[in-house]
Amino acid sequence: MFDTFEGNADGCYLYSRHSTPSNLYLGEALAAMEGTETANVAASGMGAITPVLFQLCEAGDHIVSSRTIYGGTYAFLKNFTPRFNIQTTFVDITKLDVVEAAITENTKVLYCESVSNPLLEVADIKGLSVLAKKHNLKLVVDNTFSPLSVSPAKLGADIVIHSLTKFINGSSDTVGGVVCGTQEFIDQLRNVNDGASMLLGSTMDSLRASSILKNLRTLHIRMKQHSYNAAFLANKFEADGLKTVYPGLESHPSHPLFKSMMNPEYGYGGMLTIDAGSLEKANELMELMQHKNLGYLAVSLGFYKTLFSAPGSSTSSEIPEDEQLEMGLSDGLIRFSIGLDNNIERTYQVMKECMLEVGVLSDDVVLIN
Ligand code: PLP
Repeated sequence: MFDTFEGNADGCYLYSRHSTPSNLYLGEALAAMEGTETANVAASGMGAITPVLFQLCEAGDHIVSSRTIYGGTYAFLKNFTPRFNIQTTFVDITKLDVVEAAITENTKVLYCESVSNPLLEVADIKGLSVLAKKHNLKLVVDNTFSPLSVSPAKLGADIVIHSLTKFINGSSDTVGGVVCGTQEFIDQLRNVNDGASMLLGSTMDSLRASSILKNLRTLHIRMKQHSYNAAFLANKFEADGLKTVYPGLESHPSHPLFKSMMNPEYGYGGMLTIDAGSLEKANELMELMQHKNLGYLAVSLGFYKTLFSAPGSSTSSEIPEDEQLEMGLSDGLIRFSIGLDNNIERTYQVMKECMLEVGVLSDDVVLIN
């Protein structure tokens, strides 16, 4: 028992909140996928993100974060961590000079998403890792939007996080998260005396770990299909004159960057956005698409069915309206998580009919843009 408490008893399990065989199996599989030494699974994506930031920062410390991140993470950094005197500066992560200028002597963490939620901005992970090393910071990357397509640790990230709730589990029937990193950092998170994961208690349930591990086994096939379908639709929407954002489009400002970072066989991912012009039009279109069984109006992503939502009034509603405008998050933006449809040409035809019906597209004139 003494050795187990000290972490020196291989094969012995201290207590289920600390580790269990099923959680370790899932963690090891995800660590192998991300190319890190090990990993710690958590009860949710937020249950992975929040302990990491609390482990790396103490009162008086500072974080430089991308301003386009998941709304919950944004709210945590903007509203919650200041209670502990941890301050965050939000920056345009695509501008390395702006990122570097925001670093202070108290900065401990550079935080970003490889592909950001919901604007699909792409972080230059190699460039950010050079900055992190130069200023002795930890580069923490949330890779939820681009599993397999991008491997942040191989590009220099110190810690890689996923919400397993999304593509990795892939069936919208669970919540889960993971922190992938060095053995030393994961041991710190799990330390019984001062480990944020151990003490805050966002441990994954073991039965859940075994079910996510089963789903993980098909992730490579699913990601290829998500990417294929999303690329197909993005190209069609753009050709129709819709303002379309997808990292696989040459018009995406970070297309060459994504191309240089990606594992090509998995494509540019399953997420794309279009601008419907206004929130009313966006809602009308989404309701019609749901009615036609093209997908669901839902805030999650990575499901077999296409999911769509207007982030400004849902997943990013934590971000004040003026800041949404500044970062380019318009009212009419629709975020799509493209599903595993077998006949994407047919899906496109029905989507186009919906767009024509609600007036997001017109027969000869494109109404928006
Ligand atoms: N990171 C990203 C990019 C997300 O989109 C989300 C949820 O939407 C999270 C983290 C949080 O994950 P969870 O809902 O599993 O806590």
